[in-house]
Amino acid sequence: MVQEYGLFIGGKWRKSEGKRFETHNPATGETLATFPLATKEELNESVRHAKGAFERWKKTPAPRRGELLLEAARIFRRKKEELARTVTTEMGKVIAEGRGDVQEVIDFYEYAAGEGRRMFGETVPSELPNKMCLTTRLPVGPVGLITPWNFPMAIPAWKSGAALIAGCSFVLKPSSLTPLCAARFVEVLDEAGFPAGVVNLVTGTGSVVGDGLVAHPDIRAISFTGGVDTGKHVYESAAKKMIKVGLELGGKNPIIAMDDANLELLMDGVMFGAFGTAGQRCTAASRLIVHQKIYDDVVDELVERAEKLRIGNPIDEKTDMGPVASADQQKKVLEYIDIGKKEDDKLLTGGAKLTGGSYDRGFFISPTVFAVDRKKRLALEEIFGPVLSVLKAKDYEDAVAIANSVKYGLSSSIYTNDLRWAFRAMHELEAGITYVNAPTIGAEVQLPFGGTKETGPTDTREAGSTALEEFTYWKTVYVDYSGRLQRAQIDTEKLAGS
Ligand code: NDP
Repeated sequence: MVQEYGLFIGGKWRKSEGKRFETHNPATGETLATFPLATKEELNESVRHAKGAFERWKKTPAPRRGELLLEAARIFRRKKEELARTVTTEMGKVIAEGRGDVQEVIDFYEYAAGEGRRMFGETVPSELPNKMCLTTRLPVGPVGLITPWNFPMAIPAWKSGAALIAGCSFVLKPSSLTPLCAARFVEVLDEAGFPAGVVNLVTGTGSVVGDGLVAHPDIRAISFTGGVDTGKHVYESAAKKMIKVGLELGGKNPIIAMDDANLELLMDGVMFGAFGTAGQRCTAASRLIVHQKIYDDVVDELVERAEKLRIGNPIDEKTDMGPVASADQQKKVLEYIDIGKKEDDKLLTGGAKLTGGSYDRGFFISPTVFAVDRKKRLALEEIFGPVLSVLKAKDYEDAVAIANSVKYGLSSSIYTNDLRWAFRAMHELEAGITYVNAPTIGAEVQLPFGGTKETGPTDTREAGSTALEEFTYWKTVYVDYSGRLQRAQIDTEKLAGS
């Protein structure tokens, strides 16, 4: 039976006045559940609840807030398998990756819970006697979290875990492709016992709910992950209110293969980086930049391995790669494949929609590899699908120049056994993340995650200890216990002279 969900507002699931939309399994076309297209009034109602709850939540001691995050992590752990199956059936990543998505939720909630007993400020010497100076973090207020479909539980967890421990209440607006994952996620937070109004879920369109959330006067920060165009629009709109914005907008992530690389290790990394999640990760390895000396060997091996991948229903443990997430994604990726063909990029393997039998019910594309010239669109633009562009480089300098020639700067990687290239790449690759002898994917929650250039503002760093920056502001406190007026910059001179 297809389950009908409502909106989660003020600690209760509520019916909506809005029309409904369906969510589907991208591998089979099966309808999974229906959700409301929330109205503007319902969105306002959710923010009203978030605002009311914020006043109480911010006063709850951070270690107590952390206990609730830990309780949520325990429930996520208990329900890991069923939640992983929801991720796989709604989004289409293979079940091992579905489990990884939920594991990331557990990891981050546990990590964020610990932050409740840290959240360090500073004490700094005063220039005057009998005066103390310190800094402390304060939560910004109710926040809006706008999330995509590719990590339908992990991304809501990164954003909400940091918001909650910081003392913020939130309204989550998930992708319209994966509302079921968001609903299951929020069900766990409800079970964990977060106070009414701290956690709110509002489904609906980007133009009504997303736009409305960003523009709402009571929303004090927005954390957004998605496409560049939408991200720029969100940035502009948030700037009008002078609020904090976290933006994580994708990449065109390179793996550089130097001529001394361990080829077996390289190929394992390239296959996982390029075709994991059917290439739909913001950190996916979408460019392989190969030193000319090993280019032919690498290309031969790549084609052989890509052709061996088993494509099918991602719930089957034996499947290596599932479908792309939606009809729109399939159309977009196939358009890029056509662009490659029209621009005379050399198609090495794949390059087609998979059809026949069960493939006709889902959105399948064969793993695709193109040999691409550095100025071509496939070398420069984000495709977000199972399409890998291979480029030839003369040497290390040339490889880094190619790597840095795109407008994005999220993740990057170099395979080499030479310390010189490894250490230079760490400094010279224009990206928020560099891996050495590992692919561009595989972020761990205790480290900062974010990029540069059009991947997003460089102050967006989710996860790690930097996660708090999106949801807190610094308060500086001066405590003068001298019992008299002491004037900074003025009385200091007298002191120096006395
Ligand atoms: P979008 O950027 O359109 O969607 C991301 C989120 O933003 C969704 O929740 C969406 O809601 C919401 N949204 C849409 N319009 C607005 C708006 N005007 N104001 C506020 N929020 C809005 O990405 P798509 O899902 O359409 O994917 C398009 C492309 O974006 C992909 O092909 C890929 O290139 C890139 N992308 C990058 C991701 C990353 O990890 N950096 C993740 C996903 C996509 P709704 O779903 O209702 O439209």
